[in-house]
Amino acid sequence: MRLILLGPPGAGKGTQSARLREKYNIPQLATGDMLRAAVKAGTPVGLKAKAIMDAGGLVSDDIVVGIVADRIEEADAHNGFILDGFPRTVKQAEALTEMLHQKQMDLDAVIELVVDENALLSRIEKRAQETIAAGGTVRADDNPETFKNRLETYRAQTAPVSSYYRGVEVLKTVDGMAEIDDVTAAIENILQVKV
Ligand code: AMP
Repeated sequence: MRLILLGPPGAGKGTQSARLREKYNIPQLATGDMLRAAVKAGTPVGLKAKAIMDAGGLVSDDIVVGIVADRIEEADAHNGFILDGFPRTVKQAEALTEMLHQKQMDLDAVIELVVDENALLSRIEKRAQETIAAGGTVRADDNPETFKNRLETYRAQTAPVSSYYRGVEVLKTVDGMAEIDDVTAAIENILQVKV
């Protein structure tokens, strides 16, 4: 099962990916998580990425494509993967198409979580409160100011990725405003039809 989840920040991609990872026993490849790990570890990629992430912009396509290319070579990704937060530009989508073509791999589904953008800021604020309540650390970019930039970045650079997949792959949409369990059920429905 090779799957892409698309949608703006706060749409629920991470939550749904984690559930699908459990159900299908395939890894969740979340480029945001990988970049945050690189920042924390102080690697050369992390040093380059930190300021961009803090500002709500996009890390360069070359860096992110390189990270994903390495990651899908790992043994646990041979049976499939869920891409969460990648591709975020049409250039990344084209690079992924080429990568999969070279490996003779197909995508099973590209699923877009469609949400009301007005509701996203309060979701992010809720996510921050829940993280604090659970004793965790809130992401540096989960604040209203940076979130506004992340949303603008999404509109300008990531929204066109949906049109890209409308052209070359089967793109399915799911109502991301529904209850979490209902969103999961809708995604599983699509995947069952597909498998
Ligand atoms: P996320 O956890 O997916 O919200 O990503 C957090 C931040 O990491 C984003 O705001 C970007 O700065 C960076 N990032 C994550 N994935 C990508 C990507 N595919 N391309 C460029 N930047 C990315």
